[in-house]
Amino acid sequence: MPRKRFVWSARLLLLLLLILLFGGCGLLWHKLRSIQQERVAERVAYHARALAQTLESNIDEEVQNLSRIAQLWDFHGRIPHDEWTLNVEFALRHFKGYQSIQWMGADLRIHWLLPLAGNEAARDFQLTPEHPNYPIAMQAKASGQPQFSNSFALVQGGRGFVLYDPIYLHDKQGVARFDGFVQGVFRVEELMDELLADSADEFNVRLLERQNSIYTHTTREARDDLQQQVPLHLLNNDAFALQLSPTRELVASLDSPLPEFVLGAGLVISLLLVAALALAMENDRRARALKAGNRRLNKEMRQREEIEKVLIDSRERLQLVLDLTDSSSDGLFIIDPKNGGLLHTNRATYDSLGYDAQSFARLFSEDPERILPGYHAWLEEVRQAQREDTSPIFQREMRRRDGSGRAAEISAQLVEVNGHEYLIGVSRDNSERLQLEAHLQRLSQQDGLTGLYNRRFFDQRLQAEWRRMCRTARPLALLLLDIDHFKAYNDALGHLAGDDALRQVGGQLQRCLQREGDVACRYGGEEFALILMDTDEAGAEHVAARLQRLIAELRIPHPDSPLGRVTVSIGLSTSRDVPDNRAETLVAQADGALYRAKRAGRNRSMRWDALDPNQCDQLPPVSS
Ligand code: GH3
Ligand code: MG
Ligand code: MG
Repeated sequence: MPRKRFVWSARLLLLLLLILLFGGCGLLWHKLRSIQQERVAERVAYHARALAQTLESNIDEEVQNLSRIAQLWDFHGRIPHDEWTLNVEFALRHFKGYQSIQWMGADLRIHWLLPLAGNEAARDFQLTPEHPNYPIAMQAKASGQPQFSNSFALVQGGRGFVLYDPIYLHDKQGVARFDGFVQGVFRVEELMDELLADSADEFNVRLLERQNSIYTHTTREARDDLQQQVPLHLLNNDAFALQLSPTRELVASLDSPLPEFVLGAGLVISLLLVAALALAMENDRRARALKAGNRRLNKEMRQREEIEKVLIDSRERLQLVLDLTDSSSDGLFIIDPKNGGLLHTNRATYDSLGYDAQSFARLFSEDPERILPGYHAWLEEVRQAQREDTSPIFQREMRRRDGSGRAAEISAQLVEVNGHEYLIGVSRDNSERLQLEAHLQRLSQQDGLTGLYNRRFFDQRLQAEWRRMCRTARPLALLLLDIDHFKAYNDALGHLAGDDALRQVGGQLQRCLQREGDVACRYGGEEFALILMDTDEAGAEHVAARLQRLIAELRIPHPDSPLGRVTVSIGLSTSRDVPDNRAETLVAQADGALYRAKRAGRNRSMRWDALDPNQCDQLPPVSS
């Protein structure tokens, strides 16, 4: 902003300078004009004086002409009329300004007069003391010098002047006797026109007599402001003056265009000077702006270079991180949940599923469910886990390109960056661990000798199935099986043979199961249990009979058994027999039935009789 103010101040200064320069030019012009006008006035005055002098000298010349006639008179006495006529006609021809030339005798009467034409009225004129020229004539007579009269009314009409040139006759003794005047009569207009004939073009002329105009000569338009008044001495008469106004042409010829030229040149130079200054200022401003722009540009370039450096640095680091993620065996991916787009994924993610990077990204964007079944529901689970601060680790299944499933443990977290939500996931193929876990679990549930489920599993499973039975109201049956005289078997054949017999019996139990959900367990020692789902009394009895049959088919020799082979006793009970709706009661009832089967002679199956617990229903004995 201050810079802008400076520019405006500079422009204002330039304007002021321009005004000053223009003012200076104007003053110079005015001064030159004044000088010029003075010069013109001087030259006009000079011309005017020259004109007046010309007039005076013309008059003097005419006086000389008349004086010559007068001198002839003086030297030769009164000259003959013819000679006078010759001289006068010569004079009249020589100077057209005369109205007449005449001889007025000493009696002051006109005797001779030429030309006659136009002067008839003056022929017998006599000068009387009343005439205004009388004193002048007398003065000429007395002084012997020619005298020029004031203007007066001519008897011929109009106004005129008279030049009185006294003449004398000399006797033998040399005494002069006044013999009148040789008179030149001039009509004002003609005299002046004649006198001005050569130089009248330059001035408008006015003849003043005692400041009264008696003659005006106007030729052209004149400059009255340069008017000059010059005294005119007509012999002895100082009553006249010439008032001269120079014509415009004269003034123009005396004038010079120098002031206007100087003014024009001055204005142009001023303008050029100010324009040059403005240009210089503008150039300076632009140069400064350019410099500032360059500085800014340099700064920006430096900043950009730094940013680029940081960027390259960051890119390198990012590449390292990407390489790192690519070298990871865990799958790493970043998802934009809003748009469903995959922002980043590492090699392990798509490699492990049999994809390349592009097709994986494309497929994920098109339909994430094809890679991660239940993707959208899972997103909600992740959100909920984050809200409730529960474990962010999820066990999911991912689909390979060939459609097969692959277990994946995914650690997922929703993060917000600049108001945008992203999901960061780390997936790990934990199939092996799951298998191991399953194996371990199986081991923990398995009986090591027979491969059947163990007692702990039995307890858990029975409770679970009991709860299910309660929900579905479907019957459930339990068979408890105990090998007869097994202690004796061990004793007779050894413990290893006993183990083998246990394995064989277990195998038959497993074989006996026909429905999914039925479970065979080693209940303990040489006792086994079967949990049969959706099985009523008849079904349970049927299974017990089949089991007896299968054991019998084994034909394991037992030297200390009355039947000579390994036999089993079975106690069974169903949920319908349980009065208190407890699984433990079912077990107890089956155990009670087994006990009674033993008591009844072994190698048989007994069902718990709810009406008479002491009299279990004996199932048909097993044929040997
Ligand atoms: P009963 O007909 O009344 O059932 O008589 P029993 O001898 O079978 O019953 P008892 O409870 O007296 O003996 C069970 C025997 O089972 C004792 C034990 O030696 C044997 N036994 C238990 N567990 C194992 C085992 O894992 N391996 C072997 N070999 N024998 C076992
Ligand atoms: Mg037993
Ligand atoms: Mg036994």
